[in-house]
Amino acid sequence: MKCRFGDERLYDFHDSDVPERCFFCKTAVDECFIVREIQARKMIHVCADCLITRCSEYLLDNTRPWEEQK
Ligand SMILES: [Zn+2]
Repeated sequence: MKCRFGDERLYDFHDSDVPERCFFCKTAVDECFIVREIQARKMIHVCADCLITRCSEYLLDNTRPWEEQK
């Protein structure tokens, strides 16, 4: 997917991130939330449970609209 915003490098995903798995608990989930992990300052996928229980380990980053998967 080609980014059309010109800011792709600011939204790099964490080296250990896998798109359909939660970064924290490694569970495979259909719907993940995308947030920014604090230590690496990189984007990660998180499940709904970890979104609630591990909120000190990430920041919400809604500064950019995410493009639909085509
Ligand atoms: Zn999780």
